[in-house]
Amino acid sequence: MSTTSPQIETHAFQAEIKQLLDIVIHSLYTDREIFVRELISNASDALEKFRHETLTNPELPGKDDALAVTLDFDAEAKSVTFRDNGIGMTREELSQNLGTIASSGTRRYLAQALQAAKGDVNLIGQFGVGFYSAFMVAKKVVVETRSFHADSQGWRWESAGDGSYTIAPAEGLERGTRITLELKDDAQEFASDWQLKQIIRKFSSFVPFPVHLKDEKINTVQAIWKRSRTEVTDEEYDEFFKFIANESESARYRLHFSADAPLAINALLFVPNDHMERLGFGRIDPGVDLYCKKILIQKHPENLLPDWMRFVKGVVDSDDLPLNISRETMQDSALIRKLGKVIVTRFIKHLAEEAKSDAEKYESFFAKFGHFIKEGVASDYSHREDLAKLLRFETSKTEAGKVTSLADYIARMPETQKAIYYINGPSREAIEAGPYVEALRDRDFEVIYNLEQIDDFVFDNLGEFEGKKLLSADRGDLDLPPLDKKQENELSKEAMEALSGWLKAHYGDRVAAVRGSTRLTDNPAIATSDNTMTATMQRLMSAMKQDMGGVGKMTLEINPGHGLIRQIETLRTSNEAFAKEVADQLLDNALLAAGLLSDPRAMVARLNKLLAKAAGA
Ligand code: ADP
Ligand code: MG
Repeated sequence: MSTTSPQIETHAFQAEIKQLLDIVIHSLYTDREIFVRELISNASDALEKFRHETLTNPELPGKDDALAVTLDFDAEAKSVTFRDNGIGMTREELSQNLGTIASSGTRRYLAQALQAAKGDVNLIGQFGVGFYSAFMVAKKVVVETRSFHADSQGWRWESAGDGSYTIAPAEGLERGTRITLELKDDAQEFASDWQLKQIIRKFSSFVPFPVHLKDEKINTVQAIWKRSRTEVTDEEYDEFFKFIANESESARYRLHFSADAPLAINALLFVPNDHMERLGFGRIDPGVDLYCKKILIQKHPENLLPDWMRFVKGVVDSDDLPLNISRETMQDSALIRKLGKVIVTRFIKHLAEEAKSDAEKYESFFAKFGHFIKEGVASDYSHREDLAKLLRFETSKTEAGKVTSLADYIARMPETQKAIYYINGPSREAIEAGPYVEALRDRDFEVIYNLEQIDDFVFDNLGEFEGKKLLSADRGDLDLPPLDKKQENELSKEAMEALSGWLKAHYGDRVAAVRGSTRLTDNPAIATSDNTMTATMQRLMSAMKQDMGGVGKMTLEINPGHGLIRQIETLRTSNEAFAKEVADQLLDNALLAAGLLSDPRAMVARLNKLLAKAAGA
């Protein structure tokens, strides 16, 4: 390294970025124009950040500058440049931001997702790697930047997208960033006035700063959330949603409202058509921006809305916020909490109205976003009741695939039914074939089918709905009204007591108790639980590898009218060894139906032995 030449450092891109660049350069050929959107959006973000700095630091040099994004092109040299007088980047920021992807989750899914999406370039923006879209059209990208900090110096970043980039000091730069794209041979059409103008118009109507092409201002800056509902067209809403959410599909629901009390609020919220979490891409980030008088306070703040609302995209603007509120004060600001509360309440009300006015549309929303609502019921204590009304479930009285609300369930309850019953299982068929719904079916009590593990957790948290207890059908203490019909040939009370005692002595610690059941008709026995540690909760715990410390021991309830039970009662005196084998199998079968048989190997060996006997071997 000589002392006279500028100090040029060469760095390799992070492996995932190399992969990404490979896909961007070699397989994305459609919609290449989105690089304009991505680079303008980055410039706009940089301007927002600078504006935020000026709000919190009135001494900042350049605080009165007119902030703008300016595009330029050189038809001869076949290049396009993007310039902003925003926050700029330091040396460290440069290599951090344009060379690595911080989130390991994003890293993991990125290449995979881009492959799967067959070149859906929109994903690039959603994954927070929009900058690299420049390489769809450029054979070389140069970034010249100087950070807003008073004493910072300028830097030049350069890459041909081939695995490495260079960074060197650069003289004579103003605050902000200039990005120059040297166009590929097959992308030279972008170095033209009408092309760029058209693309800027298409993508930049909602950029909150002026966008110029050479000396001409192309966009009109507008804050549509501040306008009256009647003035905004569906097309404008749609475009705005696609802009802020980086989406190509239209939104499902839209809520645009304003309020004056208790706070001055203008909010425009959207529920997208789908979300990445459902596709297994890890937890999504919040998607609502916070503004004060059209000025961005914070993009996607974490603490404005509860976690479960992270699927919502949009803008919240409140005149009552202090403009210079810092992220730290936002953390524990009573104002922010109050603001959030108004919005959550209004949003839940909106969903309830949507559910009422178009049930089918709501069900399709719930099928994709129900998880968030459930999460809300389990975690958002102050909105629990209202969120619970938004839940939908299959039940023993709905057709397969159709759902009902808890309110409608209650409306259908017969006089004698006091509680709401539910049971968890992997499928409708599995639940209906199992022993738990039998007693409820016999009494014409509807049973909610919890087909996801989280459902039981949600119900357990909810406890009751409109004064009715929520009870899992695998509890031993269901306290059902007696049926009129008595089974034929029931074992006597005395015989049942003797048999139960004998079984308990044989099972020992494997069960909490053995007792006669009044709830069974078709099944010989059932495993129930005497506390809230129902079978499903236990399955959940063991799936999470939690030690149950013995709390979860099940009670075996046996059916006095079932042939097998009568047979064991006889066998235990005539052939005790054999009776014990049958009894073991009886218990394992009941645990199996409860999903609690952890090791079926011993059971299978025994079953084969019993089969051989039955077959007369
Ligand atoms: P995202 O914008 O989603 O963060 P990008 O790949 O588009 O992802 O940009 C990566 C990062 O590079 C940005 O987060 C920002 O920190 C930095 N950056 C990009 N363009 C600029 C710019 N014009 N001015 C300042 N920083 C920028
Ligand atoms: Mg970006």
